[in-house]
Amino acid sequence: MCFDEWLNIRLNKAKEAGTYRQLRVMDTAPRPRMSINGQKQIVCSSNNYLGLANDIRLVQAAKDVLHAFGAGSSGSRLTTGNTQWHERLERKIAGFKGTEAALLFSNGYLANVGVLSSLPEKGDILLSDQLNHASIIDGCRLSKADTTIYNHIDMGDLEAKLKDSRPYQRRFIVTDGVFSMDGTIAPLDQILSLANRYHAYVIVDDAHATGVIGENGRGTSEFYGASPDVVIGTLSKAVGTEGGFVAGSRTLINFLLNHARTFIFQTAIPPASCAASYTALEIIQHDKKKRQRLLANVTKIRTELQTMGYDVKGDLTPIIPVIIGDPQMAVNFSERLREQGIYAPAIRPPTVVREESRIRLTVTSDHGSGEIEHLLALFQFIGKELNRAL
Ligand code: PMP
Repeated sequence: MCFDEWLNIRLNKAKEAGTYRQLRVMDTAPRPRMSINGQKQIVCSSNNYLGLANDIRLVQAAKDVLHAFGAGSSGSRLTTGNTQWHERLERKIAGFKGTEAALLFSNGYLANVGVLSSLPEKGDILLSDQLNHASIIDGCRLSKADTTIYNHIDMGDLEAKLKDSRPYQRRFIVTDGVFSMDGTIAPLDQILSLANRYHAYVIVDDAHATGVIGENGRGTSEFYGASPDVVIGTLSKAVGTEGGFVAGSRTLINFLLNHARTFIFQTAIPPASCAASYTALEIIQHDKKKRQRLLANVTKIRTELQTMGYDVKGDLTPIIPVIIGDPQMAVNFSERLREQGIYAPAIRPPTVVREESRIRLTVTSDHGSGEIEHLLALFQFIGKELNRAL
């Protein structure tokens, strides 16, 4: 069998299972209204929660540094890639997160993999939430420690697994701060008190919480007034740019700088990108209005969909999962939305369990009332058409 024939057999299996993926082209900058594959759409699936990706202040900051420092960093941080912009941004992140120090990675994925593959040792155990992000799963797979999965935000199950893990030398609980498919906020206060009782360390991936959750958008630590041992995050969602980070003690950062392979062997992100992120964090720190608008939009959509009879999962986060049930029905729903100008993907197995197939909406602070009314009217209409709403 020739190489491509073999690959096509595998691709056909994905097509049969309905898990085949294809790229779409965004013809315009990230905004609530975009052209996708040449079609005008209201986008309800972007991570640009505060509308910063296309903010002129970020673009200008990046432009200035682009001219001064060039297009690429040209080396890893430990060789020739480190600039004042990387260090300024790290100090900014640490200040924002209220930690001693922070370390930049190329993205959140590699920050998770870097921490989890380097921190726990052989003889340790990682206790990981069932719905943690793929990058946490991959980090656990690369770790020399054992991994056990506890049921999603089930503190009873976590406690039982902590009791079982007494023979291990060290215990690490790892959780998303906001879960990307369910929109739930992890009960960090309870996790930390269990960690305290069973002598475990806590690692939180605040990818979807950074800039959004907590009074000042500092994330789940601020929301609960809690201090996990390791906070991981990304700049690619509410911050609107790119890059991942770890925030924590200076010793932790020094350890990762020496041990995390995804830090050591990666080319540093471009200085211009650091400048854009720095400006974004300044805006997040000083402008509460974006976060307030986001919360108002989230509340309105959740409340109205629930009033229509929809089962809406999760907490008050920009991720609004609307349960449709049957996977094919969820696909049909998403397709009908797209035909009517709303871009919102259907999420099906294996990402979620079959009977919880859903439309995963995300909303931003930039969505206006016209866009939200259109979305809600379509849920009303298509729901009746497909007999989903009560
Ligand atoms: N963690 C979570 C919970 C995520 O949703 C994502 C992005 N989908 C990541 C980590 C990875 O972040 P990045 O896109 O910066 O690699």
